[in-house]
Amino acid sequence: PFPSPLVAMRGICKSFSGIPANVDVDLTLGRGEILGLLGENGAGKTTLMNILFGAYRADAGTIAVEGRPLTIARSADALAAGIGMVHQHFHLAPRLSVLDNLLVGLPGRGGRLDRTGGLDGLARIERQFSLALDPDRPVSTLVIGEQQRLEIVKALLRGARILILDEPTAVLTPAEVDGLFAALRAMAAQGLGIIFISHKLNEVRALTHRCLVLRHGRVAGEIEAPADTSAAAMARLMCGQE
Ligand code: ATP
Repeated sequence: PFPSPLVAMRGICKSFSGIPANVDVDLTLGRGEILGLLGENGAGKTTLMNILFGAYRADAGTIAVEGRPLTIARSADALAAGIGMVHQHFHLAPRLSVLDNLLVGLPGRGGRLDRTGGLDGLARIERQFSLALDPDRPVSTLVIGEQQRLEIVKALLRGARILILDEPTAVLTPAEVDGLFAALRAMAAQGLGIIFISHKLNEVRALTHRCLVLRHGRVAGEIEAPADTSAAAMARLMCGQE
């Protein structure tokens, strides 16, 4: 159902001081797909995504984006390839406004975005994905959910077609989770690929189209229809009791 993969990671290996964090991991993300990346603490989820985002170099393996082999040596390479990542901890300037945070370090198509370009981009993203933000609010006055929304908008304004979210619901209220999921579904419906890192089984069941399960750094299995799979079956795959 998801032709022309946006991302193909093959044979990814990564160790820290000889201790393996990722072992021979394959991951495929389709256009318009929301892929769950599931695993217990320490299973290797964040490491794998830090490799895709260019924060870590893999010891072995290949990455292709939209069918083209790519060397991702630093995050700038990932951003240039249309890969965005929303971390658990945000990288925002609290004293600056929403708009200024969007403009800082944001390469526009022909250089830096100016204020008008930033406002246009914000308005477009609000229309497309219902991600509204007041451009003039100082970031220090935003609740955590709004700060996360700003991180997402920033990634989209940078041209992300592939968006990685690392445990994004950990900091959200239930109403904010609903808003985030609606936005992610809208992004997927418009052809973006989403990688949703989580260990919350019911959220993975509610949101994702497919799910890759990591255990001790290896792929433990793939769940083709998370909505039709019980949380208990997912937990057994995560914990190795299948
Ligand atoms: P969590 O849900 O706790 O974030 P995770 O599935 O994302 O877990 P990782 O954070 O990828 O797991 O960690 C996988 C393994 O790699 C762990 O044993 C962790 O201690 C180790 N690891 C990750 N990053 C580093 C690092 N920078 N230096 C040393 N070890 C690391």
